[in-house]
Amino acid sequence: THVKKYFEITKGIIKQKKTYVKAVDDVTMTINKGEIVGLVGESGSGKTTLARVILNLTKPTGGTVIFDHVDLSKATKQEKKEFHTKVSVVFQDPASNLNPRETVQSSIMRPLVIHGVPKAEAREKAKETLDMVKMDQRYLNSYPHQLSGGQLQRIAIARALAMNPKIMILDEPTSALDVSVQAQILNLLLDLQEKFNLTYLVITHDLNVIRYISDKIAVMYLGRLVEFGPTEEVTQNPKHPYTQGLMAAAPILDPHLRGRKEYIMKGEPGSLVNLPEGCHFHPRCPFATDRCKTTAPGGYLLSDEHKVACHLCEQEAVGIDREVFPDS
Ligand code: SF4
Repeated sequence: THVKKYFEITKGIIKQKKTYVKAVDDVTMTINKGEIVGLVGESGSGKTTLARVILNLTKPTGGTVIFDHVDLSKATKQEKKEFHTKVSVVFQDPASNLNPRETVQSSIMRPLVIHGVPKAEAREKAKETLDMVKMDQRYLNSYPHQLSGGQLQRIAIARALAMNPKIMILDEPTSALDVSVQAQILNLLLDLQEKFNLTYLVITHDLNVIRYISDKIAVMYLGRLVEFGPTEEVTQNPKHPYTQGLMAAAPILDPHLRGRKEYIMKGEPGSLVNLPEGCHFHPRCPFATDRCKTTAPGGYLLSDEHKVACHLCEQEAVGIDREVFPDS
Protein backbone atom coordinates (compact mmCIF):
# COMPACT_ATOMS: atom_id res chain seq x y z
CA THR A 1 0.00 0.00 0.00
CA HIS A 2 1.43 3.38 -1.10
CA VAL A 3 4.89 1.85 -1.38
CA LYS A 4 7.69 4.33 -2.06
CA LYS A 5 11.35 3.56 -2.45
CA TYR A 6 13.61 6.56 -2.97
CA PHE A 7 17.40 6.37 -3.22
CA GLU A 8 19.40 9.43 -2.16
CA ILE A 9 22.14 10.57 -4.52
CA THR A 10 24.38 13.66 -4.44
CA LYS A 11 24.57 15.91 -7.46
CA GLY A 12 27.34 18.33 -8.44
CA ILE A 13 31.00 18.27 -7.37
CA ILE A 14 31.38 21.71 -5.75
CA LYS A 15 27.88 22.44 -4.48
CA GLN A 16 26.70 19.05 -3.37
CA LYS A 17 22.97 18.86 -3.65
CA LYS A 18 20.87 16.02 -2.33
CA THR A 19 18.46 14.55 -4.78
CA TYR A 20 16.41 11.38 -4.96
CA VAL A 21 15.84 8.61 -7.42
CA LYS A 22 12.20 7.67 -7.09
CA ALA A 23 12.49 4.00 -8.05
CA VAL A 24 9.00 3.22 -6.73
CA ASP A 25 6.63 6.11 -6.26
CA ASP A 26 3.45 5.42 -4.37
CA VAL A 27 2.43 2.03 -5.69
CA THR A 28 -0.62 0.24 -4.30
CA MET A 29 -1.47 -3.19 -5.59
CA THR A 30 -3.45 -6.15 -4.24
CA ILE A 31 -2.55 -9.72 -5.08
CA ASN A 32 -5.27 -12.13 -4.05
CA LYS A 33 -4.66 -15.69 -2.90
CA GLY A 34 -4.31 -18.14 -5.80
CA GLU A 35 -3.83 -15.36 -8.35
CA ILE A 36 -1.05 -14.90 -10.89
CA VAL A 37 -0.13 -11.27 -11.37
CA GLY A 38 2.33 -10.23 -14.06
CA LEU A 39 4.38 -7.12 -13.39
CA VAL A 40 5.68 -5.63 -16.59
CA GLY A 41 7.74 -2.60 -17.57
CA GLU A 42 11.03 -1.63 -19.18
CA SER A 43 14.25 -1.77 -17.18
CA GLY A 44 14.28 1.17 -14.80
CA SER A 45 10.51 1.07 -14.36
CA GLY A 46 10.93 0.06 -10.72
CA LYS A 47 9.53 -3.46 -10.95
CA THR A 48 12.57 -5.19 -9.43
CA THR A 49 12.81 -2.61 -6.63
CA LEU A 50 9.12 -3.16 -5.88
CA ALA A 51 9.77 -6.92 -5.72
CA ARG A 52 12.67 -6.35 -3.29
CA VAL A 53 10.37 -4.28 -1.07
CA ILE A 54 7.69 -6.99 -1.18
CA LEU A 55 10.33 -9.59 -0.27
CA ASN A 56 11.38 -7.43 2.69
CA LEU A 57 14.92 -7.30 1.28
CA THR A 58 14.87 -3.52 1.35
CA LYS A 59 12.91 -1.14 3.56
CA PRO A 60 10.43 1.11 1.78
CA THR A 61 10.89 4.87 2.13
CA GLY A 62 7.15 5.10 2.64
CA GLY A 63 4.09 2.89 2.62
CA THR A 64 3.96 -0.70 3.69
CA VAL A 65 3.54 -4.28 2.58
CA ILE A 66 0.62 -6.14 4.11
CA PHE A 67 0.88 -9.91 3.94
CA ASP A 68 -1.87 -12.16 5.30
CA HIS A 69 -3.27 -9.21 7.30
CA VAL A 70 0.15 -8.52 8.88
CA ASP A 71 1.61 -5.05 8.27
CA LEU A 72 5.32 -5.82 7.77
CA SER A 73 6.41 -2.36 8.94
CA LYS A 74 4.94 -3.18 12.36
CA ALA A 75 5.65 -6.92 12.36
CA THR A 76 7.37 -8.57 15.32
CA LYS A 77 10.61 -10.51 14.83
CA GLN A 78 8.63 -13.76 14.91
CA GLU A 79 6.11 -12.49 12.32
CA LYS A 80 8.97 -11.43 10.02
CA LYS A 81 10.57 -14.85 10.41
CA GLU A 82 7.28 -16.53 9.50
CA PHE A 83 6.89 -14.18 6.54
CA HIS A 84 10.23 -15.33 5.13
CA THR A 85 9.05 -18.94 5.18
CA LYS A 86 5.85 -18.06 3.32
CA VAL A 87 7.42 -16.07 0.51
CA SER A 88 9.98 -17.49 -1.87
CA VAL A 89 11.70 -16.25 -4.97
CA VAL A 90 12.97 -17.72 -8.23
CA PHE A 91 15.51 -15.64 -10.12
CA GLN A 92 16.26 -15.31 -13.80
CA ASP A 93 19.60 -17.08 -13.82
CA PRO A 94 19.47 -20.20 -11.62
CA ALA A 95 23.15 -21.01 -12.27
CA SER A 96 24.30 -17.89 -10.45
CA ASN A 97 22.00 -18.60 -7.51
CA LEU A 98 22.99 -22.21 -6.90
CA ASN A 99 26.27 -22.93 -5.19
CA PRO A 100 28.47 -24.76 -7.78
CA ARG A 101 30.02 -26.85 -4.98
CA GLU A 102 26.69 -28.02 -3.59
CA THR A 103 24.69 -31.00 -4.83
CA VAL A 104 21.07 -30.56 -5.83
CA GLN A 105 19.98 -32.19 -2.58
CA SER A 106 22.05 -29.84 -0.42
CA SER A 107 20.83 -26.81 -2.38
CA ILE A 108 17.19 -27.71 -1.83
CA MET A 109 17.81 -28.60 1.82
CA ARG A 110 19.70 -25.41 2.71
CA PRO A 111 16.77 -22.98 3.29
CA LEU A 112 14.95 -25.66 5.29
CA VAL A 113 17.93 -26.33 7.55
CA ILE A 114 18.46 -22.58 8.03
CA HIS A 115 14.86 -22.38 9.27
CA GLY A 116 15.42 -25.17 11.78
CA VAL A 117 14.02 -28.19 9.92
CA PRO A 118 15.84 -31.40 11.05
CA LYS A 119 18.25 -32.70 8.39
CA ALA A 120 16.47 -36.05 7.88
CA GLU A 121 13.18 -34.25 7.27
CA ALA A 122 14.87 -31.75 4.92
CA ARG A 123 16.40 -34.63 2.96
CA GLU A 124 12.94 -36.18 2.46
CA LYS A 125 11.53 -32.83 1.44
CA ALA A 126 14.28 -32.45 -1.19
CA LYS A 127 13.21 -35.79 -2.72
CA GLU A 128 9.55 -34.79 -2.61
CA THR A 129 10.11 -31.41 -4.28
CA LEU A 130 12.25 -32.99 -7.00
CA ASP A 131 9.21 -35.14 -7.83
CA MET A 132 7.04 -32.04 -7.84
CA VAL A 133 9.19 -30.41 -10.53
CA LYS A 134 9.15 -33.69 -12.51
CA MET A 135 12.84 -34.56 -12.15
CA ASP A 136 14.27 -37.99 -11.56
CA GLN A 137 15.67 -38.78 -8.08
CA ARG A 138 19.07 -39.58 -9.62
CA TYR A 139 19.67 -35.83 -9.98
CA LEU A 140 19.82 -35.42 -6.18
CA ASN A 141 23.57 -36.02 -6.24
CA SER A 142 24.26 -33.91 -9.34
CA TYR A 143 26.14 -30.61 -9.30
CA PRO A 144 24.89 -27.49 -11.13
CA HIS A 145 27.51 -27.80 -13.93
CA GLN A 146 26.09 -31.23 -14.82
CA LEU A 147 22.60 -29.83 -15.51
CA SER A 148 20.99 -27.93 -18.39
CA GLY A 149 19.43 -24.46 -18.02
CA GLY A 150 15.93 -25.91 -17.85
CA GLN A 151 16.95 -28.48 -15.22
CA LEU A 152 18.65 -25.78 -13.15
CA GLN A 153 15.50 -23.69 -13.23
CA ARG A 154 13.48 -26.74 -12.10
CA ILE A 155 15.90 -27.11 -9.15
CA ALA A 156 15.48 -23.42 -8.30
CA ILE A 157 11.70 -23.90 -8.36
CA ALA A 158 12.02 -27.05 -6.20
CA ARG A 159 14.09 -25.09 -3.67
CA ALA A 160 11.50 -22.31 -3.63
CA LEU A 161 8.71 -24.88 -3.11
CA ALA A 162 10.48 -26.70 -0.28
CA MET A 163 9.34 -24.14 2.29
CA ASN A 164 5.65 -24.58 1.30
CA PRO A 165 5.39 -20.91 0.36
CA LYS A 166 2.10 -19.07 -0.01
CA ILE A 167 3.45 -16.71 -2.60
CA MET A 168 6.29 -17.08 -5.08
CA ILE A 169 8.00 -14.16 -6.77
CA LEU A 170 9.28 -15.20 -10.17
CA ASP A 171 11.81 -12.71 -11.51
CA GLU A 172 12.16 -13.22 -15.29
CA PRO A 173 11.77 -17.00 -14.74
CA THR A 174 12.28 -18.00 -18.38
CA SER A 175 14.34 -15.26 -20.02
CA ALA A 176 17.68 -17.08 -19.56
CA LEU A 177 16.29 -20.25 -21.18
CA ASP A 178 16.06 -21.52 -24.74
CA VAL A 179 12.69 -20.88 -26.34
CA SER A 180 11.93 -24.61 -26.49
CA VAL A 181 12.43 -24.92 -22.72
CA GLN A 182 10.55 -21.74 -21.79
CA ALA A 183 7.11 -23.28 -22.48
CA GLN A 184 7.98 -26.37 -20.38
CA ILE A 185 8.89 -24.21 -17.39
CA LEU A 186 5.79 -22.02 -17.78
CA ASN A 187 3.59 -25.13 -17.97
CA LEU A 188 5.28 -26.56 -14.89
CA LEU A 189 4.64 -23.30 -13.01
CA LEU A 190 0.98 -23.36 -14.07
CA ASP A 191 0.60 -27.02 -12.97
CA LEU A 192 2.15 -26.28 -9.58
CA GLN A 193 0.01 -23.19 -9.11
CA GLU A 194 -3.16 -25.15 -9.79
CA LYS A 195 -2.16 -28.13 -7.67
CA PHE A 196 -1.10 -26.14 -4.60
CA ASN A 197 -3.24 -23.03 -5.09
CA LEU A 198 -0.08 -20.93 -5.10
CA THR A 199 0.05 -17.19 -5.65
CA TYR A 200 2.60 -15.83 -8.11
CA LEU A 201 3.99 -12.41 -8.85
CA VAL A 202 5.75 -12.78 -12.20
CA ILE A 203 8.17 -10.00 -13.10
CA THR A 204 9.12 -9.86 -16.73
CA HIS A 205 9.57 -7.64 -19.74
CA ASP A 206 8.21 -10.46 -21.94
CA LEU A 207 4.56 -9.80 -22.66
CA ASN A 208 4.04 -13.23 -24.17
CA VAL A 209 5.00 -14.80 -20.83
CA ILE A 210 2.53 -12.52 -19.08
CA ARG A 211 -0.23 -13.25 -21.59
CA TYR A 212 0.35 -16.99 -21.20
CA ILE A 213 0.59 -17.27 -17.46
CA SER A 214 -1.05 -14.39 -15.62
CA ASP A 215 -4.59 -13.60 -14.50
CA LYS A 216 -3.84 -9.92 -14.12
CA ILE A 217 -1.28 -7.47 -15.48
CA ALA A 218 0.32 -4.55 -13.64
CA VAL A 219 2.19 -2.12 -15.89
CA MET A 220 4.81 0.18 -14.39
CA TYR A 221 6.46 3.21 -15.95
CA LEU A 222 9.17 5.25 -14.22
CA GLY A 223 8.26 4.08 -10.73
CA ARG A 224 4.50 4.44 -11.09
CA LEU A 225 1.73 1.97 -11.75
CA VAL A 226 0.03 3.12 -14.97
CA GLU A 227 -2.37 0.27 -15.74
CA PHE A 228 -3.68 -2.69 -13.76
CA GLY A 229 -6.33 -5.17 -14.73
CA PRO A 230 -7.38 -8.61 -15.94
CA THR A 231 -4.96 -9.97 -18.56
CA GLU A 232 -7.61 -10.45 -21.22
CA GLU A 233 -8.97 -6.94 -20.85
CA VAL A 234 -5.54 -5.28 -20.79
CA THR A 235 -4.09 -7.26 -23.69
CA GLN A 236 -7.14 -7.02 -25.94
CA ASN A 237 -7.92 -3.44 -25.11
CA PRO A 238 -4.90 -1.70 -23.55
CA LYS A 239 -5.90 1.78 -22.48
CA HIS A 240 -2.71 3.49 -21.38
CA PRO A 241 -0.63 4.68 -24.35
CA TYR A 242 2.46 3.14 -22.73
CA THR A 243 0.73 -0.27 -22.49
CA GLN A 244 -0.38 0.11 -26.12
CA GLY A 245 3.25 0.82 -27.10
CA LEU A 246 4.50 -2.21 -25.15
CA MET A 247 1.92 -4.44 -26.82
CA ALA A 248 2.88 -3.11 -30.25
CA ALA A 249 6.56 -3.81 -29.56
CA ALA A 250 5.91 -7.45 -28.63
CA PRO A 251 5.47 -10.05 -31.37
CA ILE A 252 1.80 -11.03 -31.34
CA LEU A 253 1.24 -14.76 -31.13
CA ASP A 254 -2.48 -14.55 -30.49
CA PRO A 255 -4.42 -14.05 -33.78
CA HIS A 256 -7.30 -12.39 -31.88
CA LEU A 257 -5.02 -9.55 -30.90
CA ARG A 258 -3.76 -8.72 -34.38
CA GLY A 259 -5.15 -5.64 -36.05
CA ARG A 260 -5.91 -3.73 -32.86
CA LYS A 261 -5.15 -0.03 -32.53
CA GLU A 262 -1.48 0.39 -31.81
CA TYR A 263 1.50 2.59 -32.48
CA ILE A 264 5.27 2.25 -32.30
CA MET A 265 6.59 3.83 -29.13
CA LYS A 266 9.34 6.34 -29.71
CA GLY A 267 12.28 7.41 -27.55
CA GLU A 268 14.00 5.95 -24.54
CA PRO A 269 12.42 5.65 -21.11
CA GLY A 270 13.08 8.83 -19.13
CA SER A 271 15.44 9.10 -16.20
CA LEU A 272 14.30 8.43 -12.66
CA VAL A 273 16.52 11.33 -11.53
CA ASN A 274 14.94 14.05 -13.68
CA LEU A 275 11.38 12.85 -13.84
CA PRO A 276 9.13 14.73 -16.25
CA GLU A 277 6.44 16.89 -14.59
CA GLY A 278 2.81 15.82 -14.86
CA CYS A 279 2.42 12.46 -16.53
CA HIS A 280 5.89 10.88 -16.60
CA PHE A 281 5.11 9.40 -20.01
CA HIS A 282 4.29 12.69 -21.75
CA PRO A 283 7.65 13.15 -23.59
CA ARG A 284 7.02 9.84 -25.42
CA CYS A 285 3.27 9.94 -25.68
CA PRO A 286 1.77 10.68 -29.12
CA PHE A 287 -1.49 11.81 -27.46
CA ALA A 288 0.04 14.21 -24.90
CA THR A 289 -1.66 17.56 -24.38
CA ASP A 290 -0.54 20.62 -22.39
CA ARG A 291 -2.48 19.28 -19.41
CA CYS A 292 -0.37 16.09 -19.44
CA LYS A 293 2.80 18.20 -19.06
CA THR A 294 1.66 19.76 -15.80
CA THR A 295 -0.90 17.47 -14.19
CA ALA A 296 -0.37 13.84 -13.25
CA PRO A 297 -3.35 11.80 -14.41
CA GLY A 298 -5.90 10.33 -12.05
CA GLY A 299 -6.54 6.64 -11.61
CA TYR A 300 -9.63 5.90 -13.63
CA LEU A 301 -11.70 2.78 -13.14
CA LEU A 302 -12.86 1.36 -16.46
CA SER A 303 -14.45 -1.66 -14.81
CA ASP A 304 -14.35 -3.22 -11.35
CA GLU A 305 -10.78 -4.35 -11.82
CA HIS A 306 -9.32 -2.39 -14.75
CA LYS A 307 -7.55 0.80 -13.62
CA VAL A 308 -5.63 3.26 -15.77
CA ALA A 309 -3.67 6.43 -15.02
CA CYS A 310 -4.21 8.49 -18.18
CA HIS A 311 -6.20 11.67 -18.85
CA LEU A 312 -7.57 10.10 -22.03
CA CYS A 313 -9.68 7.71 -19.95
CA GLU A 314 -11.47 10.43 -17.99
CA GLN A 315 -14.61 10.41 -20.16
CA GLU A 316 -15.18 6.67 -20.23
CA ALA A 317 -14.29 6.06 -16.57
CA VAL A 318 -16.93 4.61 -14.29
CA GLY A 319 -15.10 5.88 -11.21
CA ILE A 320 -11.85 7.07 -9.72
CA ASP A 321 -9.50 4.92 -7.65
CA ARG A 322 -7.73 7.24 -5.24
CA GLU A 323 -6.36 4.32 -3.23
CA VAL A 324 -4.36 2.89 -6.09
CA PHE A 325 -3.59 6.16 -7.87
CA PRO A 326 -3.20 8.78 -5.13
CA ASP A 327 -2.73 11.68 -7.56
CA SER A 328 -6.39 11.37 -8.60
FE1 SF4 B 1 -0.28 10.37 -22.73
FE2 SF4 B 1 -1.39 12.34 -21.34
FE3 SF4 B 1 -2.24 9.85 -21.03
FE4 SF4 B 1 0.11 10.57 -20.09
S1 SF4 B 1 -1.88 11.33 -19.40
S2 SF4 B 1 -0.34 8.72 -21.17
S3 SF4 B 1 0.81 11.97 -21.66
S4 SF4 B 1 -2.38 11.10 -22.88
